[in-house]
Amino acid sequence: MRLRNIPGADDAILNSEYCIKNPEEQKGHWQDCFNKVQPLHIEIGMGKGRFIMDMAALHPDINYIGIERYSSVLLRALQKMEQNPLPNIKFICMDAADVAGVFAKDEVDRIYLNFSDPWPKDRHAKRRLTSTHFFEHYDHILAPDGRVMFKTDNRPLFDFSLEQVPEAGWTLENYTYDLHHSEYNEGNIMTEYEAKFSALGTPINRLVAYRTKK
Ligand code: SAM
Repeated sequence: MRLRNIPGADDAILNSEYCIKNPEEQKGHWQDCFNKVQPLHIEIGMGKGRFIMDMAALHPDINYIGIERYSSVLLRALQKMEQNPLPNIKFICMDAADVAGVFAKDEVDRIYLNFSDPWPKDRHAKRRLTSTHFFEHYDHILAPDGRVMFKTDNRPLFDFSLEQVPEAGWTLENYTYDLHHSEYNEGNIMTEYEAKFSALGTPINRLVAYRTKK
């Protein structure tokens, strides 16, 4: 993602009612941030938030939290929220490496990873959000029957992820190398990157992973 440092982004986030400051203080109490107690789904690396906001509008019976590392990117989502507020979505500006400090054991029901940064160099493999390293974090926060759902246009990253799932002790529920022409496409909501890449004819890969027992 092309990044510009947008002046005032940090302040806008600090002052936004949609963005949770000091998220570690909410650990174990995320439902208090919402009007209704209902399943909690998070997207890690949400970018400008198109996917998670569309999901929140479509599924008022689910609470959503969007996580984005960069304030200048998250700002775009906050601006959209101000135009079209939704009661079942909040945002956090943080690095995903800290998720286990922010969510309690089993507190999250689903984790979406969409078009995560590929970190192509081998020495950076641990930074990929689908590495065994990150699956350990997800293991702490995801409910026993929870799912990790990952979409990407990047085939090398997808192949790496298909290997990491069993290596992390998780199970592949299903996967496809061409989501939009597969049986799994029904109900699919496109992310910003997904719309861009599929318009160029790039197939979209998707996998769903879960733990067999916990
Ligand atoms: N999910 C969006 C989509 O599909 O349109 C954005 C995809 S963009 C390629 C990846 C986003 O993930 C960027 O906004 C980046 O800042 C964010 N990101 C990458 N690594 C992250 C991390 N460790 N913690 C939080 N956000 C991260």
